[in-house]
Amino acid sequence: MPRPATRLALQRLDSTALLVSRHPIGEADLVVRLFTESSGMIGVIARNARRSAKRFGALEPMHVLKVRVESSPLRDLGTLAEASLERPRIGITARLDTLEAAGQALRWLRRAAPTRSSEPELWREVNALLDELDALPATGAKRVGSLLAGSGLRMLAATGWALELSRCVRCEKACPERSRSILDVAAGGIVCRACGGRGEVLSAAERHAFLRAADGDPDALVEGSSRAIDVVERALEVHGRGEAT
Ligand SMILES: [Zn+2]
Repeated sequence: MPRPATRLALQRLDSTALLVSRHPIGEADLVVRLFTESSGMIGVIARNARRSAKRFGALEPMHVLKVRVESSPLRDLGTLAEASLERPRIGITARLDTLEAAGQALRWLRRAAPTRSSEPELWREVNALLDELDALPATGAKRVGSLLAGSGLRMLAATGWALELSRCVRCEKACPERSRSILDVAAGGIVCRACGGRGEVLSAAERHAFLRAADGDPDALVEGSSRAIDVVERALEVHGRGEAT
């Protein structure tokens, strides 16, 4: 028996967005992952994007894009109908250090952002970081890692995975001001000895620097940001939303 013709309405989404990944598919298409302001992370097909550069001239990461996506309840992937440049960030792409930091932030975003759920705080955070990297003067190179680390700590918080660095996550006893603490990333932050804290030691100075960085001080980690960046990385691994691309 022939199936009755059903017409499911196409849904249209207009939003500002960041491109977080792109993969070729078929002869001319791209599968693109977008972090949209209005609907969070979505996957879309950009048809013929590789055949005609003019069709979606703006399909590059780092810049704020304006996109129109059409989706059907029957398909996982929406279709990219339009994309244009809303706010270019040429400053980021002109330098290797800012380009690498921005790329790292977008990889974190892919792992932190849930699919099809608006995340305004995460949207603000990642765009604030990209704006800062874009506007960074040539003399600001030492700030790049510090900005990235602070933003990473805030991205964790925006996702509900904040690391507790002021008190023990178990008994809530405040950390000693001047002596070292034990950081257990898997437990979600500092665990005091009485609560069985095991793991890596964080000096008082490091802990304060982490807190200042998370609080928005761009210079908090200019003397060394790699440990904080590694901590963010591991915290995301623990929560692992499992975004593979
Ligand atoms: Zn405790």
